[in-house]
Amino acid sequence: MSTPKRYKFNPETLAYEIHKISMKARFSKGFVVFLVSLVVSFGYYFIYTDYFKMETPKMLSIRSANVELANKLELLNRRFEEANRSLTALQIRDNYVYRPIFGMEEISQDVRNAGFGGVNRYSYLESVDKSGILTSTVMNIDVLYKKAYIQSRSFDDVAQQAKNADEMALCVPAIPPVNIAMRKIKFSCNFGYRPDPFTRVYKMHTGIDLSGPIGEPIYATGNGKIMEVGFDFFGYGNYIIVDHGFGYKTRYAHLKNIIVNMGRSVRRGEQIATMGNTGRSTGPHVHYEVIYKNRTVDPLNYYNRDIAAGEFKALTEPKG
Ligand SMILES: [Zn+2]
Repeated sequence: MSTPKRYKFNPETLAYEIHKISMKARFSKGFVVFLVSLVVSFGYYFIYTDYFKMETPKMLSIRSANVELANKLELLNRRFEEANRSLTALQIRDNYVYRPIFGMEEISQDVRNAGFGGVNRYSYLESVDKSGILTSTVMNIDVLYKKAYIQSRSFDDVAQQAKNADEMALCVPAIPPVNIAMRKIKFSCNFGYRPDPFTRVYKMHTGIDLSGPIGEPIYATGNGKIMEVGFDFFGYGNYIIVDHGFGYKTRYAHLKNIIVNMGRSVRRGEQIATMGNTGRSTGPHVHYEVIYKNRTVDPLNYYNRDIAAGEFKALTEPKG
């Protein structure tokens, strides 16, 4: 089918002639129409969005998705803060309740914070940068995981110590170092400040003194290991330090003979030495110290002063 021919009146020839429109003319006319419609559409778009502040359906859906994400992020942050609070409560209980029961050192905040120096706090409302909030949320959760890991390791240690509780009961220095039920043994000096027996100057006495005859058996007061055997001419004389674990050590000083070697395991009630008068001593006695977490404490708080001779004998007789 051919396109219908157009005729145009020619005033010069006074005749109707076939009117031909060149391709160029046709094209440029189409282009102008295209341009005009383009300008009109942009105009409408501008009026719609900028002048009347209306939104296109796509912008509306992106905006609502964004609001939804922001809400989820805020919820996540709230849950995170709750988890962080619970963990902090656990850490405090661990440091001040669980670990001290078994004589374990508390875990420092530096270690607990996994080297991050605490969690960053920020206000959700103040911040405009959502991706910034997301990044810091992810980082905080990472820190929380690390802290939780450290806490769970600490609980593992505590659980292990709890299993060892029976052993701990045997290790704590819980009997006197000599048979105090015998009349020949005298309590001669308390733990605490007292005038020095040589200089009369008030000085801290870091243990208790129990006097008796030279050669009287001296017993380990709890299970442990011989940590130090030494001689201190101007002080303790012949002495032994026993490491009982769980933070406890004991020292026995001014001894005559030492019958155990370094590194040897000893049981509560096992004889380790004999009473003497070596070092800075004014008469035969044993100077006995209980050291808990590297500080001397009053040994009287650790043993029963009214122990009967039979009881002590039962405790110190070789077993098995
Ligand atoms: Zn003393």
